[in-house]
Amino acid sequence: MTAPILVWLRHDLRLADHPALYDAARQGPVVLAFCLDEAGGRPFGGASRWWLHQSLRALGNVTLAMGKSEQEIPRLARLCGARGVYWNRSADPRLRDVEDRVEAALGDQARIFPGDTLFAPGAVRTKDGGQFQVFTAFWRAALALPAPDRPLPVPPDLRFAPCPGLTLDQLTLMPKLDWWRGMDRDWQPGEAGAARLLKDFLAGPVQSYHTERDRPDRPATSRLSPHLAFGEISARQIWSAARAAAPGQGMETFLKEVGWREFSRHLLFNHPSLPHVPLRRDFAAFPWRDDPEALRKWQMGMTGYPIVDAGMRQLWATGWMHNRVRMIVASFLVKDLLIPWQAGEEWFWDTLVDADSANNAASWQWVAGCGADAAPFFRIFNPVTQGEKFDPDGAYMRAWVPELAHLSGTTIHQPWKLGRVPGYPAPMVDHAKARERALAAFKGLRAPIDQPSLF
Ligand code: FAD
Repeated sequence: MTAPILVWLRHDLRLADHPALYDAARQGPVVLAFCLDEAGGRPFGGASRWWLHQSLRALGNVTLAMGKSEQEIPRLARLCGARGVYWNRSADPRLRDVEDRVEAALGDQARIFPGDTLFAPGAVRTKDGGQFQVFTAFWRAALALPAPDRPLPVPPDLRFAPCPGLTLDQLTLMPKLDWWRGMDRDWQPGEAGAARLLKDFLAGPVQSYHTERDRPDRPATSRLSPHLAFGEISARQIWSAARAAAPGQGMETFLKEVGWREFSRHLLFNHPSLPHVPLRRDFAAFPWRDDPEALRKWQMGMTGYPIVDAGMRQLWATGWMHNRVRMIVASFLVKDLLIPWQAGEEWFWDTLVDADSANNAASWQWVAGCGADAAPFFRIFNPVTQGEKFDPDGAYMRAWVPELAHLSGTTIHQPWKLGRVPGYPAPMVDHAKARERALAAFKGLRAPIDQPSLF
Protein backbone atom coordinates (compact mmCIF):
# COMPACT_ATOMS: atom_id res chain seq x y z
CA MET A 1 0.00 0.00 0.00
CA THR A 2 1.24 3.53 -0.78
CA ALA A 3 2.64 5.32 2.25
CA PRO A 4 0.13 7.88 3.55
CA ILE A 5 0.47 11.64 3.84
CA LEU A 6 -0.21 13.04 7.27
CA VAL A 7 -2.48 16.10 7.24
CA TRP A 8 -1.97 18.18 10.36
CA LEU A 9 -5.25 19.84 11.31
CA ARG A 10 -5.12 23.36 12.68
CA HIS A 11 -8.19 25.61 13.00
CA ASP A 12 -9.60 23.84 9.94
CA LEU A 13 -11.66 20.90 11.17
CA ARG A 14 -13.37 20.10 7.88
CA LEU A 15 -13.05 17.92 4.80
CA ALA A 16 -14.31 20.38 2.15
CA ASP A 17 -12.24 23.31 0.90
CA HIS A 18 -9.17 22.05 2.70
CA PRO A 19 -6.21 22.70 0.38
CA ALA A 20 -3.73 20.49 2.27
CA LEU A 21 -6.15 17.56 2.51
CA TYR A 22 -7.26 17.93 -1.10
CA ASP A 23 -3.70 17.77 -2.39
CA ALA A 24 -2.73 14.90 -0.10
CA ALA A 25 -5.81 12.83 -0.94
CA ARG A 26 -5.09 13.06 -4.66
CA GLN A 27 -1.86 11.19 -4.05
CA GLY A 28 -3.11 8.32 -1.87
CA PRO A 29 -4.29 7.56 1.65
CA VAL A 30 -4.16 10.21 4.36
CA VAL A 31 -3.86 10.34 8.11
CA LEU A 32 -5.72 13.25 9.69
CA ALA A 33 -3.88 14.33 12.84
CA PHE A 34 -4.70 16.83 15.56
CA CYS A 35 -2.34 17.76 18.38
CA LEU A 36 -3.60 19.53 21.50
CA ASP A 37 -0.63 21.79 22.13
CA GLU A 38 -1.39 23.97 25.16
CA ALA A 39 2.07 25.55 25.08
CA GLY A 40 1.94 26.51 21.40
CA GLY A 41 -0.34 29.52 21.08
CA ARG A 42 -2.96 30.62 23.58
CA PRO A 43 -4.59 27.72 25.46
CA PHE A 44 -8.25 27.20 24.51
CA GLY A 45 -10.84 28.66 26.87
CA GLY A 46 -13.45 26.44 28.57
CA ALA A 47 -16.24 26.91 26.00
CA SER A 48 -13.82 26.38 23.12
CA ARG A 49 -12.58 23.15 24.69
CA TRP A 50 -16.15 21.88 24.76
CA TRP A 51 -16.63 22.87 21.11
CA LEU A 52 -13.33 21.30 20.09
CA HIS A 53 -14.31 17.99 21.70
CA GLN A 54 -17.60 17.94 19.78
CA SER A 55 -16.00 19.07 16.56
CA LEU A 56 -13.29 16.38 16.63
CA ARG A 57 -15.96 13.79 17.38
CA ALA A 58 -18.08 14.99 14.46
CA LEU A 59 -15.10 14.89 12.10
CA GLY A 60 -14.07 11.36 13.11
CA ASN A 61 -11.06 9.54 11.63
CA VAL A 62 -8.61 11.84 13.41
CA THR A 63 -5.43 10.58 15.08
CA LEU A 64 -5.08 12.54 18.31
CA ALA A 65 -2.00 13.60 20.22
CA MET A 66 -1.18 15.96 23.05
CA GLY A 67 2.04 17.88 23.72
CA LYS A 68 4.46 20.00 21.76
CA SER A 69 3.52 19.99 18.08
CA GLU A 70 7.16 20.04 16.98
CA GLN A 71 7.65 16.73 18.78
CA GLU A 72 4.25 15.09 18.33
CA ILE A 73 3.64 15.73 14.64
CA PRO A 74 7.02 14.30 13.50
CA ARG A 75 6.48 11.39 15.91
CA LEU A 76 3.09 10.58 14.39
CA ALA A 77 4.54 10.93 10.90
CA ARG A 78 7.21 8.35 11.75
CA LEU A 79 4.68 6.09 13.47
CA CYS A 80 2.42 5.85 10.45
CA GLY A 81 5.25 5.82 7.91
CA ALA A 82 4.06 9.07 6.31
CA ARG A 83 5.95 10.27 3.27
CA GLY A 84 4.89 13.87 3.80
CA VAL A 85 3.18 16.18 6.28
CA TYR A 86 0.82 18.79 4.88
CA TRP A 87 -1.09 21.59 6.56
CA ASN A 88 -2.82 24.90 5.92
CA ARG A 89 -0.98 27.98 7.20
CA SER A 90 -2.50 29.86 10.15
CA ALA A 91 -2.86 33.64 10.13
CA ASP A 92 -2.19 34.00 13.88
CA PRO A 93 1.53 34.75 14.36
CA ARG A 94 1.71 32.61 17.51
CA LEU A 95 0.37 29.60 15.64
CA ARG A 96 2.72 30.37 12.74
CA ASP A 97 5.65 30.23 15.18
CA VAL A 98 4.61 26.69 16.13
CA GLU A 99 4.28 25.81 12.44
CA ASP A 100 7.78 27.14 11.79
CA ARG A 101 9.12 24.85 14.48
CA VAL A 102 7.28 21.84 13.05
CA GLU A 103 8.55 22.70 9.59
CA ALA A 104 12.12 22.91 10.91
CA ALA A 105 11.73 19.50 12.57
CA LEU A 106 10.33 17.88 9.42
CA GLY A 107 12.59 19.40 6.78
CA ASP A 108 11.62 18.33 3.24
CA GLN A 109 8.64 16.34 4.45
CA ALA A 110 6.62 19.51 5.16
CA ARG A 111 4.31 21.15 2.61
CA ILE A 112 2.33 24.21 3.55
CA PHE A 113 -0.85 25.45 1.87
CA PRO A 114 -2.83 28.70 2.02
CA GLY A 115 -4.90 29.13 5.16
CA ASP A 116 -8.40 30.35 5.82
CA THR A 117 -8.51 33.96 4.78
CA LEU A 118 -10.09 35.30 1.62
CA PHE A 119 -6.90 37.24 0.92
CA ALA A 120 -3.46 36.07 2.04
CA PRO A 121 -2.34 37.66 5.33
CA GLY A 122 -0.18 40.65 4.50
CA ALA A 123 -1.41 40.78 0.88
CA VAL A 124 -3.77 43.73 1.35
CA ARG A 125 -1.49 46.78 1.39
CA THR A 126 -1.69 50.48 0.75
CA LYS A 127 -0.29 51.78 -2.56
CA ASP A 128 3.10 52.37 -0.94
CA GLY A 129 3.14 48.95 0.71
CA GLY A 130 1.98 50.08 4.17
CA GLN A 131 -0.68 48.68 6.48
CA PHE A 132 -4.27 49.85 6.50
CA GLN A 133 -5.61 51.42 9.67
CA VAL A 134 -9.12 52.00 8.40
CA PHE A 135 -11.51 49.19 7.53
CA THR A 136 -13.28 50.78 4.54
CA ALA A 137 -9.96 51.50 2.81
CA PHE A 138 -8.73 47.98 3.64
CA TRP A 139 -11.87 46.37 2.27
CA ARG A 140 -11.86 48.51 -0.88
CA ALA A 141 -8.26 47.48 -1.58
CA ALA A 142 -9.07 43.82 -0.80
CA LEU A 143 -11.98 43.81 -3.22
CA ALA A 144 -9.72 45.22 -5.94
CA LEU A 145 -7.45 42.14 -5.63
CA PRO A 146 -8.19 39.01 -7.68
CA ALA A 147 -11.35 37.39 -6.28
CA PRO A 148 -10.89 34.52 -3.81
CA ASP A 149 -10.51 31.10 -5.45
CA ARG A 150 -13.53 28.87 -5.74
CA PRO A 151 -13.75 26.50 -2.76
CA LEU A 152 -12.53 22.94 -3.19
CA PRO A 153 -14.91 19.99 -2.76
CA VAL A 154 -14.40 17.14 -0.32
CA PRO A 155 -11.60 15.14 -1.99
CA PRO A 156 -13.10 12.41 -4.17
CA ASP A 157 -11.90 8.91 -3.24
CA LEU A 158 -10.75 10.07 0.20
CA ARG A 159 -9.08 7.12 1.95
CA PHE A 160 -7.88 7.13 5.52
CA ALA A 161 -4.85 5.15 6.65
CA PRO A 162 -4.77 3.85 10.23
CA CYS A 163 -2.49 5.47 12.79
CA PRO A 164 -2.65 4.92 16.56
CA GLY A 165 -3.24 7.89 18.82
CA LEU A 166 -4.99 9.01 21.99
CA THR A 167 -8.72 8.68 22.50
CA LEU A 168 -10.83 11.82 22.47
CA ASP A 169 -11.50 11.44 26.20
CA GLN A 170 -7.76 11.36 26.89
CA LEU A 171 -7.57 14.97 25.67
CA THR A 172 -9.85 15.84 28.66
CA LEU A 173 -11.48 18.68 26.79
CA MET A 174 -14.93 18.27 28.34
CA PRO A 175 -15.56 20.50 31.39
CA LYS A 176 -15.79 18.67 34.71
CA LEU A 177 -19.03 20.47 35.63
CA ASP A 178 -21.96 20.15 33.28
CA TRP A 179 -22.42 23.88 32.55
CA TRP A 180 -22.17 23.01 28.85
CA ARG A 181 -25.74 21.68 28.58
CA GLY A 182 -27.06 24.99 27.22
CA MET A 183 -24.40 24.97 24.53
CA ASP A 184 -25.28 21.39 23.68
CA ARG A 185 -28.91 22.40 23.14
CA ASP A 186 -28.03 25.39 20.96
CA TRP A 187 -25.30 24.16 18.66
CA GLN A 188 -24.33 21.37 16.31
CA PRO A 189 -20.53 21.55 16.13
CA GLY A 190 -18.99 20.16 12.97
CA GLU A 191 -19.06 20.61 9.24
CA ALA A 192 -22.66 19.43 8.79
CA GLY A 193 -23.93 21.91 11.41
CA ALA A 194 -22.07 24.73 9.69
CA ALA A 195 -23.46 23.82 6.27
CA ARG A 196 -26.99 23.70 7.66
CA LEU A 197 -26.69 27.15 9.28
CA LEU A 198 -25.31 28.67 6.09
CA LYS A 199 -28.07 27.12 3.98
CA ASP A 200 -30.81 28.33 6.35
CA PHE A 201 -29.31 31.80 6.55
CA LEU A 202 -29.00 32.18 2.78
CA ALA A 203 -32.54 30.90 2.28
CA GLY A 204 -34.05 33.80 4.24
CA PRO A 205 -32.44 36.03 6.87
CA VAL A 206 -29.65 37.28 4.57
CA GLN A 207 -32.21 39.26 2.55
CA SER A 208 -32.88 41.60 5.45
CA TYR A 209 -29.46 41.32 7.11
CA HIS A 210 -28.61 44.95 6.35
CA THR A 211 -31.66 46.23 8.23
CA GLU A 212 -32.07 43.57 10.94
CA ARG A 213 -28.55 42.59 11.95
CA ASP A 214 -28.50 44.87 14.98
CA ARG A 215 -31.61 43.31 16.52
CA PRO A 216 -30.74 40.71 19.17
CA ASP A 217 -34.44 39.87 19.52
CA ARG A 218 -34.56 38.49 15.97
CA PRO A 219 -32.79 35.55 14.30
CA ALA A 220 -31.16 37.93 11.85
CA THR A 221 -27.50 36.86 11.73
CA SER A 222 -25.86 33.65 10.56
CA ARG A 223 -24.43 32.37 13.90
CA LEU A 224 -21.60 30.90 11.86
CA SER A 225 -18.87 32.38 14.08
CA PRO A 226 -17.93 29.26 16.11
CA HIS A 227 -17.90 27.17 12.95
CA LEU A 228 -15.58 29.74 11.36
CA ALA A 229 -13.40 29.90 14.47
CA PHE A 230 -12.77 26.14 14.29
CA GLY A 231 -12.63 26.09 10.50
CA GLU A 232 -15.61 23.79 10.08
CA ILE A 233 -16.53 26.06 7.22
CA SER A 234 -14.15 28.32 5.31
CA ALA A 235 -14.52 31.98 4.49
CA ARG A 236 -14.23 31.04 0.81
CA GLN A 237 -17.19 28.65 1.08
CA ILE A 238 -19.27 31.41 2.66
CA TRP A 239 -18.15 33.95 0.09
CA SER A 240 -18.93 31.71 -2.84
CA ALA A 241 -22.29 30.41 -1.55
CA ALA A 242 -23.51 33.89 -0.57
CA ARG A 243 -22.58 35.40 -3.92
CA ALA A 244 -24.34 32.59 -5.79
CA ALA A 245 -27.48 32.34 -3.67
CA ALA A 246 -28.44 35.76 -2.51
CA PRO A 247 -27.39 38.81 -4.50
CA GLY A 248 -28.54 42.08 -2.95
CA GLN A 249 -27.79 44.56 -0.22
CA GLY A 250 -28.19 42.02 2.58
CA MET A 251 -25.55 39.78 1.06
CA GLU A 252 -23.13 42.67 0.47
CA THR A 253 -23.48 43.80 4.08
CA PHE A 254 -23.01 40.23 5.29
CA LEU A 255 -19.81 39.79 3.27
CA LYS A 256 -18.59 43.10 4.59
CA GLU A 257 -18.84 41.64 8.10
CA VAL A 258 -16.81 38.67 6.91
CA GLY A 259 -14.46 41.43 5.71
CA TRP A 260 -14.11 42.61 9.33
CA ARG A 261 -12.89 39.12 10.11
CA GLU A 262 -10.27 39.57 7.40
CA PHE A 263 -9.34 43.00 8.77
CA SER A 264 -8.91 41.55 12.28
CA ARG A 265 -6.60 38.87 10.91
CA HIS A 266 -4.64 41.51 9.04
CA LEU A 267 -4.24 43.44 12.32
CA LEU A 268 -3.16 40.41 14.33
CA PHE A 269 -0.78 39.34 11.58
CA ASN A 270 0.90 42.74 11.74
CA HIS A 271 0.62 43.15 15.54
CA PRO A 272 1.06 39.83 17.34
CA SER A 273 0.56 41.57 20.70
CA LEU A 274 -2.96 42.70 19.70
CA PRO A 275 -4.69 40.59 22.44
CA HIS A 276 -2.76 42.39 25.20
CA VAL A 277 -1.26 45.67 24.05
CA PRO A 278 -3.33 48.68 22.89
CA LEU A 279 -2.57 49.68 19.32
CA ARG A 280 -2.74 53.30 20.46
CA ARG A 281 0.21 53.26 22.79
CA ASP A 282 -0.98 56.25 24.78
CA PHE A 283 -3.78 54.05 26.16
CA ALA A 284 -1.17 52.12 28.13
CA ALA A 285 -1.29 55.07 30.56
CA PHE A 286 -5.11 55.03 30.90
CA PRO A 287 -6.17 55.17 34.58
CA TRP A 288 -8.06 51.86 34.62
CA ARG A 289 -9.59 50.66 37.88
CA ASP A 290 -8.82 47.39 39.59
CA ASP A 291 -12.23 46.28 40.89
CA PRO A 292 -12.66 42.48 41.05
CA GLU A 293 -16.13 42.75 42.59
CA ALA A 294 -17.43 44.96 39.79
CA LEU A 295 -15.84 42.65 37.22
CA ARG A 296 -17.61 39.69 38.82
CA LYS A 297 -21.01 41.43 38.70
CA TRP A 298 -20.47 42.12 35.01
CA GLN A 299 -19.39 38.53 34.32
CA MET A 300 -22.43 37.13 36.13
CA GLY A 301 -24.93 39.48 34.46
CA MET A 302 -25.82 41.26 37.70
CA THR A 303 -25.10 44.89 36.79
CA GLY A 304 -28.70 46.07 37.13
CA TYR A 305 -28.81 47.14 33.48
CA PRO A 306 -31.14 44.68 31.69
CA ILE A 307 -29.54 44.73 28.23
CA VAL A 308 -26.06 44.22 29.71
CA ASP A 309 -27.24 41.43 31.99
CA ALA A 310 -29.19 39.72 29.21
CA GLY A 311 -26.07 39.65 27.03
CA MET A 312 -23.78 38.35 29.76
CA ARG A 313 -26.25 35.62 30.67
CA GLN A 314 -26.78 34.62 27.04
CA LEU A 315 -23.00 34.27 26.83
CA TRP A 316 -22.80 32.12 29.97
CA ALA A 317 -25.71 29.90 28.93
CA THR A 318 -24.94 29.41 25.24
CA GLY A 319 -21.31 30.46 24.64
CA TRP A 320 -22.43 33.14 22.20
CA MET A 321 -23.74 36.70 22.27
CA HIS A 322 -25.24 38.91 19.61
CA ASN A 323 -22.76 41.40 18.09
CA ARG A 324 -24.67 44.55 19.06
CA VAL A 325 -24.94 43.31 22.63
CA ARG A 326 -21.22 42.44 22.68
CA MET A 327 -20.58 46.11 21.88
CA ILE A 328 -22.94 47.27 24.63
CA VAL A 329 -21.53 45.00 27.36
CA ALA A 330 -17.96 45.79 26.32
CA SER A 331 -18.62 49.53 26.42
CA PHE A 332 -20.18 49.12 29.86
CA LEU A 333 -17.15 47.28 31.24
CA VAL A 334 -14.56 49.60 29.76
CA LYS A 335 -16.32 52.95 30.07
CA ASP A 336 -18.96 52.73 32.81
CA LEU A 337 -16.79 50.57 35.07
CA LEU A 338 -13.33 51.69 33.82
CA ILE A 339 -12.13 48.10 33.92
CA PRO A 340 -9.37 47.34 31.39
CA TRP A 341 -10.52 45.90 28.08
CA GLN A 342 -8.03 43.05 28.54
CA ALA A 343 -10.14 41.70 31.44
CA GLY A 344 -13.17 41.58 29.17
CA GLU A 345 -11.17 40.03 26.37
CA GLU A 346 -10.04 37.27 28.72
CA TRP A 347 -13.58 36.55 29.95
CA PHE A 348 -14.84 36.35 26.39
CA TRP A 349 -11.89 34.13 25.49
CA ASP A 350 -12.92 31.67 28.20
CA THR A 351 -16.68 31.72 27.65
CA LEU A 352 -17.26 32.21 23.92
CA VAL A 353 -17.61 29.18 21.68
CA ASP A 354 -16.40 31.42 18.86
CA ALA A 355 -13.39 32.76 20.80
CA ASP A 356 -11.01 33.91 18.11
CA SER A 357 -7.72 35.60 18.88
CA ALA A 358 -8.02 38.08 16.02
CA ASN A 359 -11.73 38.97 16.16
CA ASN A 360 -11.87 39.11 19.94
CA ALA A 361 -8.81 41.29 20.45
CA ALA A 362 -9.53 43.62 17.52
CA SER A 363 -13.15 44.05 18.65
CA TRP A 364 -12.25 44.78 22.27
CA GLN A 365 -9.68 47.33 21.17
CA TRP A 366 -12.28 48.80 18.82
CA VAL A 367 -14.81 49.27 21.63
CA ALA A 368 -12.16 50.61 24.02
CA GLY A 369 -11.14 53.25 21.50
CA CYS A 370 -7.52 52.13 21.36
CA GLY A 371 -7.68 49.91 18.28
CA ALA A 372 -7.72 50.34 14.53
CA ASP A 373 -10.56 52.39 13.05
CA ALA A 374 -11.96 52.36 16.58
CA ALA A 375 -15.07 53.91 18.05
CA PRO A 376 -13.75 57.05 19.78
CA PHE A 377 -13.48 56.58 23.53
CA PHE A 378 -15.82 59.50 24.17
CA ARG A 379 -18.65 57.70 22.33
CA ILE A 380 -20.12 55.96 25.35
CA PHE A 381 -23.12 53.69 24.88
CA ASN A 382 -26.08 54.47 27.09
CA PRO A 383 -27.32 50.99 28.08
CA VAL A 384 -30.92 52.19 28.43
CA THR A 385 -31.24 53.88 25.05
CA GLN A 386 -29.33 51.03 23.37
CA GLY A 387 -31.87 48.58 24.81
CA GLU A 388 -34.79 50.78 23.73
CA LYS A 389 -33.41 51.06 20.23
CA PHE A 390 -32.35 47.49 19.53
CA ASP A 391 -34.67 45.45 21.76
CA PRO A 392 -37.64 47.83 21.81
CA ASP A 393 -40.22 45.36 23.15
CA GLY A 394 -37.76 43.81 25.60
CA ALA A 395 -38.17 40.29 24.17
CA TYR A 396 -34.44 39.58 24.28
CA MET A 397 -34.09 40.90 27.83
CA ARG A 398 -37.11 38.93 29.04
CA ALA A 399 -35.67 35.76 27.51
CA TRP A 400 -32.38 36.03 29.38
CA VAL A 401 -33.29 37.82 32.61
CA PRO A 402 -36.19 35.81 34.06
CA GLU A 403 -36.49 38.12 37.10
CA LEU A 404 -37.76 40.76 34.66
CA ALA A 405 -39.95 38.49 32.54
CA HIS A 406 -43.13 39.71 34.23
CA LEU A 407 -42.48 43.38 33.40
CA SER A 408 -44.80 44.68 30.74
CA GLY A 409 -44.10 46.82 27.69
CA THR A 410 -41.24 49.23 27.95
CA THR A 411 -40.90 49.30 31.76
CA ILE A 412 -38.27 46.60 31.37
CA HIS A 413 -35.70 49.11 30.11
CA GLN A 414 -35.48 50.87 33.50
CA PRO A 415 -36.84 48.47 36.11
CA TRP A 416 -35.49 50.62 38.96
CA LYS A 417 -38.22 53.15 38.20
CA LEU A 418 -40.68 50.62 39.66
CA GLY A 419 -38.79 50.45 42.92
CA ARG A 420 -37.05 47.22 43.81
CA VAL A 421 -37.65 44.16 41.60
CA PRO A 422 -37.32 40.99 43.71
CA GLY A 423 -34.14 39.08 42.88
CA TYR A 424 -32.81 41.70 40.50
CA PRO A 425 -30.09 44.19 41.55
CA ALA A 426 -30.32 47.96 41.43
CA PRO A 427 -27.95 49.52 38.84
CA MET A 428 -24.36 49.08 40.08
CA VAL A 429 -23.43 52.54 38.76
CA ASP A 430 -25.38 55.61 37.76
CA HIS A 431 -24.73 55.72 34.02
CA ALA A 432 -24.74 59.54 33.80
CA LYS A 433 -22.13 59.83 36.56
CA ALA A 434 -20.09 56.92 35.21
CA ARG A 435 -20.04 58.63 31.84
CA GLU A 436 -18.68 61.83 33.37
CA ARG A 437 -16.01 59.84 35.22
CA ALA A 438 -14.96 58.10 32.01
CA LEU A 439 -14.77 61.35 30.07
CA ALA A 440 -12.65 62.91 32.81
CA ALA A 441 -10.27 59.94 32.72
CA PHE A 442 -10.08 60.21 28.96
CA LYS A 443 -9.41 63.97 29.13
CA GLY A 444 -6.38 63.24 31.29
CA LEU A 445 -5.08 61.20 28.40
CA ARG A 446 -5.78 63.86 25.82
CA ALA A 447 -2.40 65.55 26.04
CA PRO A 448 -0.34 62.54 25.01
CA ILE A 449 -2.98 61.19 22.66
CA ASP A 450 -1.28 62.58 19.58
CA GLN A 451 1.85 60.60 20.28
CA PRO A 452 2.60 58.15 17.52
CA SER A 453 0.65 54.95 17.80
CA LEU A 454 1.86 51.53 16.75
CA PHE A 455 0.80 52.25 13.17
P1 FAD B 1 -22.76 37.46 11.32
O1 FAD B 1 -23.34 38.80 11.55
O2 FAD B 1 -23.61 36.45 10.66
O3 FAD B 1 -21.38 37.67 10.53
C1 FAD B 1 -20.78 36.62 9.76
C2 FAD B 1 -19.34 36.43 10.20
O4 FAD B 1 -18.57 37.62 9.99
C3 FAD B 1 -19.17 36.13 11.68
O5 FAD B 1 -19.39 34.76 11.96
C4 FAD B 1 -17.73 36.56 11.94
O6 FAD B 1 -16.79 35.57 11.55
C5 FAD B 1 -17.60 37.76 11.02
N1 FAD B 1 -17.88 39.00 11.77
C6 FAD B 1 -19.06 39.58 12.00
N2 FAD B 1 -18.91 40.73 12.71
C7 FAD B 1 -17.58 40.83 12.95
C8 FAD B 1 -16.78 41.80 13.64
N3 FAD B 1 -17.32 42.90 14.21
N4 FAD B 1 -15.44 41.61 13.71
C9 FAD B 1 -14.87 40.52 13.12
N5 FAD B 1 -15.58 39.58 12.44
C10 FAD B 1 -16.92 39.74 12.37
N6 FAD B 1 -16.24 37.36 16.72
C11 FAD B 1 -15.65 36.14 16.75
O7 FAD B 1 -15.78 35.38 15.79
N7 FAD B 1 -14.90 35.74 17.83
C12 FAD B 1 -14.71 36.54 18.92
O8 FAD B 1 -13.99 36.15 19.85
C13 FAD B 1 -15.34 37.82 18.92
N8 FAD B 1 -15.24 38.65 19.99
C14 FAD B 1 -15.87 39.87 19.98
C15 FAD B 1 -15.74 40.73 21.08
C16 FAD B 1 -16.38 41.97 21.09
C17 FAD B 1 -16.21 42.89 22.27
C18 FAD B 1 -17.16 42.36 19.99
C19 FAD B 1 -17.85 43.69 19.98
C20 FAD B 1 -17.28 41.53 18.88
C21 FAD B 1 -16.64 40.29 18.86
N9 FAD B 1 -16.75 39.42 17.75
C22 FAD B 1 -16.11 38.20 17.77
C23 FAD B 1 -17.38 39.87 16.50
C24 FAD B 1 -18.87 39.56 16.33
O9 FAD B 1 -19.58 39.93 17.48
C25 FAD B 1 -19.15 38.09 16.03
O10 FAD B 1 -18.32 37.64 14.99
C26 FAD B 1 -20.62 37.88 15.61
O11 FAD B 1 -21.48 38.34 16.60
C27 FAD B 1 -20.85 36.42 15.35
O12 FAD B 1 -22.18 36.18 15.06
P2 FAD B 1 -22.64 35.70 13.61
O13 FAD B 1 -21.80 34.54 13.18
O14 FAD B 1 -24.11 35.52 13.65
O15 FAD B 1 -22.24 36.95 12.74
